[in-house]
Formats: sequence, structure tokens, C-alpha cells
Amino acid sequence: MTEIYNFAPGPAVMPREVLEQAQAEMLDWRGSGTSVMEMSHREANFMSIAHQAEADLRELLTIPNNYKVLFLQGGAHMQFAMIPLNLLRGKDSMDYLDTGDWSAKALEEAKRFGKVNVVASTKDTAYTTIPEQSTWKCSPNAAFLHYTSNETIRGVQFKSIPELGDVPLVADMSSDILSKPIDVSRFGLIYAGAQKNIGPAGITVVIVREDLIGKAVANTPSMLDYKVYAESESMYNTPPTYAWYLAGLVFKWLKRKGGLAAMAEFNELKAKVLYDAIDASSFYHCPVDKRYRSTMNVPFTLANSELDKVFLAESAKAGLMSLKGHRVVGGMRASIYNAMSIEGVSALAQFMREFERQHG
Ligand SMILES: *Cc1c(COP(=O)(O)O)cnc(C)c1O
Repeated sequence: MTEIYNFAPGPAVMPREVLEQAQAEMLDWRGSGTSVMEMSHREANFMSIAHQAEADLRELLTIPNNYKVLFLQGGAHMQFAMIPLNLLRGKDSMDYLDTGDWSAKALEEAKRFGKVNVVASTKDTAYTTIPEQSTWKCSPNAAFLHYTSNETIRGVQFKSIPELGDVPLVADMSSDILSKPIDVSRFGLIYAGAQKNIGPAGITVVIVREDLIGKAVANTPSMLDYKVYAESESMYNTPPTYAWYLAGLVFKWLKRKGGLAAMAEFNELKAKVLYDAIDASSFYHCPVDKRYRSTMNVPFTLANSELDKVFLAESAKAGLMSLKGHRVVGGMRASIYNAMSIEGVSALAQFMREFERQHG
């Protein structure tokens, strides 16, 4: 059988070792006689799984003690609403950077709750770059500034953390959290849906500075109030226990792999293999500003888009799955999260050279 490499944008490839461990523990978690799926979230076995996952995540990201780690449901989309509800804190406007489809969606949702100031937008470049910070029009009294550290659809990634004064920085890191070390202390809040680089869909991680908790607007539903999660260790209601467990296995796997510094090096290497393959020929093209090309999502087009279907069919036959670009961009996109191997990326680069030889 051909080796299968999954380049899906999310839900995405999981580390093989994690799936094997989950399989081995499926029917009987470490002598407990039950599956993790069958455990009460309030019993000691599950509590130990939950606490260990949080401890490992804290260690991986060196999360300072004055930050809470929350495990929620609802995906990044629910955060698009929870952030304004909780962080507006009586202020009258919120700053948003518009660098792609996800930041645009986040700021549209925020408009339901207050005034949104778009500090800069790259929409007119088809979201292929990051605006220089010197051009941003920040409002002095903004409740926070929101940005998307990696735009999953367009493949545009911030290479440094914006420098802000006292305005809390909020980041959607759904598609590049855990891909490299980050200085958490620079942020007011970080959030990420799990299904790209953490684990299976169904769980969302929020890392939030404690002083920002407990100031939600009046009548905020309990399930949308960070304080409720913080005070209940994210167990106000039944959390997504199995997804939490799998995320924990991924955190352990990352630690065994050498942590986030090792991941960063590995991800840079993988991305280089693909961008080099694209840049080596005029048959392929990546529209993204070279300075901001994503290490996680690599979009590319063919000089002749009539060949897209052939490329997708033949690559799938070669075991290179889910390379279709997002419908708003077209072309191809290879998502190469932590769990994608260098072999997978090399196989794709090899396929691209061969495809060009045959069709170029
Ligand atoms: C996938 C993605 C989302 C949407 O996530 P859901 O969990 O489906 O709500 C939001 N932002 C970014 C950057 C993403 O990659």
C-alpha cells in the first residue's frame, strides 16, 4: 500500500504515535478497566488526565502563573463572540487587524458587541501580506487589539509579535499554536481551536491573563463567561473529555520531540522544502509576500489552472491527500502542521517536480 500523507487544513493529521497510544488505551485506560470516553469528568482518573494536559501545555509554552488555561467548546468561532463580551470592559472600541478571511470573520462578529476599528487591512492585496506596524491606525482607548497570527486560508503568518503599549493583545493562533515558542506574557489572551495543531476537533484552548477575567458585560450567558470556566477548572458543564485526553497525548508527544524550539526548527525545514520547490519553477506560484509566508499552510497555484483537477487527482493517487486550496483562493494548499513528517513534505516536492516534467 502507498504511504498516505494528509495535507488537510483541519481537522488535520495527528501524530501517528498518539493515535497508536490512544488505540492501545482505548478499552482500558491504564488498568482502570474503562475507556477514557466512559469516565466521569469528575472522577480522579479523568481529573488526572485533565491536570496533566494543562501542566504539559503550561510547560511547553512556559505560560506564566498569572494566566489561566481554559478548555472550552465552540471552536475559534465562539471566541469571536466571547472576546468582545469579556474583554470590552466598558470601553467603547476594539482594534482589529484585517489580514485574512479569519480576521475578517472575527471582526464582523465583534461588530455585534461594539465599535470595531480596523487598524489596517490587506484585503486589497488579496490578503497576501502583513501591513507594516508603522501604518496601523490604533485607537488610544481600545479595549484590546485582535490579530490572527497565521491566516490558514491564505498562508500568511506574522513573524513577530506586534509591539503594543498597555492595550491587551489578543491572538487567534488556531493554526500555528505550538508550532514554535512564543512569549505568552506579551498577550492578554491567546485562543486556538484544537483541530489544526493540538488534537481532534471539539476542544478549544484559551490562555488568558487573570486580570482580564470577571469583567464580562451584563447578561453574558454563563457558558460565554471566562470567569465561569476559570472558577470551575473548565468543568462547569461536561467538557469534551476525549478530545481533552487526546490533546494531552499530543502535548506529551511534543515534549518527547524536544518541545517547541525543536518544532520550530522542524517546521522551518519542512516549509523550506515546499517553498523551494515552488520557487524553483515558473510552473508553480505562491502569491504570498516572501517575508510572511506561513510555515503551516503553503498555498500555491499552477501557471495553467486547467491542470488543477489533474494535479489533485494524480496527487491523491500518489497518496498525497487533501491538497485542494480553499474555495476563496483556488489552486492548492498544503497544510504541514507539527504532525506532518519531513517524508510527507519531500514526497510532495518530488511529486511536484515529476508533475511539471509530465505536464509543463
Ligand atoms: C480554522 C480556523 C478558525 C475556525 O475554527 P473553528 O474551530 O471551526 O471555529 C478560526 N481561525 C483560524 C485562524 C483558523 O485556522
